[in-house]
Amino acid sequence: MELLDEGVVPEHARAVKAEAREFADEHIAPVAEAYHNSGEYPWDVLEAGMDAGLVAQDIGEEYGGRGLGLEESLAVAEEFYRADAGIGLTLMLASFGASIVEEHGTEDQKEEYLRPVAENGQITGLAVSEPQTGSDLAGMTTRAEKDGDEWVLDGEKYWIGNAVEADWLTLYAKTGDGEDRYGNYSLFIVPTDAPGYEAEHIPEKIGMRASKQGHVVLDGCRIPEENLVGAEGAGFYVLAEFFNHGRVVVGGHGLGLAAAAIEEAWEFTHGRQAFGRDVSEFQAVQHDLANMRTEFEAARALNWRAAERVATEDRAGLWAAMAKTKSTEVATFCAERAMQLHGGRSILQDRRVSRVYRDARIPVIYEGANEIQRNLIYRQSGN
Ligand SMILES: Cc1cc2nc3c(=O)[nH]c(=O)nc-3n(C[C@H](O)[C@H](O)[C@H](O)COP(=O)(O)OP(=O)(O)OC[C@H]3O[C@@H](n4cnc5c(N)ncnc54)[C@H](O)[C@@H]3O)c2cc1C
Repeated sequence: MELLDEGVVPEHARAVKAEAREFADEHIAPVAEAYHNSGEYPWDVLEAGMDAGLVAQDIGEEYGGRGLGLEESLAVAEEFYRADAGIGLTLMLASFGASIVEEHGTEDQKEEYLRPVAENGQITGLAVSEPQTGSDLAGMTTRAEKDGDEWVLDGEKYWIGNAVEADWLTLYAKTGDGEDRYGNYSLFIVPTDAPGYEAEHIPEKIGMRASKQGHVVLDGCRIPEENLVGAEGAGFYVLAEFFNHGRVVVGGHGLGLAAAAIEEAWEFTHGRQAFGRDVSEFQAVQHDLANMRTEFEAARALNWRAAERVATEDRAGLWAAMAKTKSTEVATFCAERAMQLHGGRSILQDRRVSRVYRDARIPVIYEGANEIQRNLIYRQSGN
């Protein structure tokens, strides 16, 4: 069963998709269960991904990357997440937020920070969410105050991918108190060895255990004034644009997970006997499998259409939010049905289906909970 067929993938993204499949089969799938159980950071897989030219390669060629575009990143995400979402997230997080520096940073910032990530000497991450606020981007309270030729950061960030492991983060902080609440935020490059930066891992998760998120405390954290990325006060809008790309790729997280759920359900029901026949012979089971396949194909068609719309900046916000919502919810639907079709064995720790079920709970939340996506879809649908 080949669910992630390349038919819907544009020609230019097919080669990297094949590379990602080969890498996932060889380096991710065989160790997925072990990393899920140990909850350790998969440094060896990350390094293998770097050697294979599949980590942080969304960064442009002029800064040492391969310049993989949105559709190529989506193709890679589908393949990695089909093999394992936790390891997939770690591989994709290594350059999370770096495109903000690439799009809005100065040449000096790109040479000092972007190039080492593209060349796989450093990893990075994006710090937006806070302990008290994740959904309301204009409600974050971490502050950045100018003091001479430095910025001083105070506050906390939560859920930050690679907060402990990264060399630097792109960090979102409040720099103003104007009436326009969307104009009060800015983005900064924060080296994780800056004075006043502390991070620790958050408690163990039920899913995507091979990825690591941290709780960051900024206590008078000082960074040079030239670490401001883009214009002061433009952070909210920069992030909104960044998330349009990110959400299409998160749709790919959902599609990879849904494909894994369908594969597992199909295999288990073809071979398991009940009432003297193969479970797959029951029409109710066939209808479940049919519904899963149909939902998956609908989501995938939407997601790839959205990729094209976002890549060509054609009502990107609307399409990105629809793709993220549909694909991630199809993943939870398929994972839930796949569990049911596995009977009691569904809850065994060592089953791929039980990992997929837990992992699928996450993309409906990150990169903006799906309720926020629905707000965006509604608001942008009328024009
Ligand atoms: C595994 C993982 C990795 C992550 N990685 C990162 C990262 O690298 N960097 C980063 O900055 N963040 C990261 N996040 C954080 C993620 O983006 C937030 O969890 C998400 O935005 C939701 O924020 P919250 O958890 O604070 O939920 P809240 O904002 O507290 O919302 C809780 C719930 O309330 C409801 N809700 C909230 N607002 C509305 C509304 N307007 N309308 C309707 N319902 C609403 C929704 O059901 C929502 O799920 C990560 C999260 C996870 C789980």
